[in-house]
Amino acid sequence: MERVTHNREETLALGAEIAATFTGGMTVALIGDLGAGKTTLTQGIVAYFDKNIRVKSPTFTVMNEYVFAEPVNGIARIIHIDFYRFTEERELGALSLEDEMRPDTVIIAEWPNIFDRDVFRAEKTITLAHRGGDERVVTVS
Ligand code: ADP
Ligand code: MG
Repeated sequence: MERVTHNREETLALGAEIAATFTGGMTVALIGDLGAGKTTLTQGIVAYFDKNIRVKSPTFTVMNEYVFAEPVNGIARIIHIDFYRFTEERELGALSLEDEMRPDTVIIAEWPNIFDRDVFRAEKTITLAHRGGDERVVTVS
């Protein structure tokens, strides 16, 4: 699926649309340059589940957890990870990603391709690309 968004609001709305297709236990990769809209799309995704939650960029915290007021489509929380600052694979050990994988959880990772080898196996990959001004091409595969 490929879509073009023309502003932040359209990317938020697209995030909600994509979130409606999620199933529990799913892993999602977000690929795109800085400022492409990965965190904005995640805000739209999380808002689909709980509109009172404000997503913060996980660039400095590495991992953020969002627990919804109540489960939606069997999904109770989203783990949002940013691998951007990781320089060595062994740093991943501290994250214990396997422990976070649960049937009621969706894990979304920005920059999963930061390492030569893919350390995060995603079932769904969403790519965001700048296309002049505020336009973004969003591809879901
Ligand atoms: P990333 O996480 O990929 O680095 P962010 O979501 O943090 O990107 O930032 C995207 C920035 O681009 C925000 O400041 C947002 O307001 C702006 N923006 C402009 N147009 C769009 C669009 N069509 N989709 C998403 N963000 C957009
Ligand atoms: Mg980001």
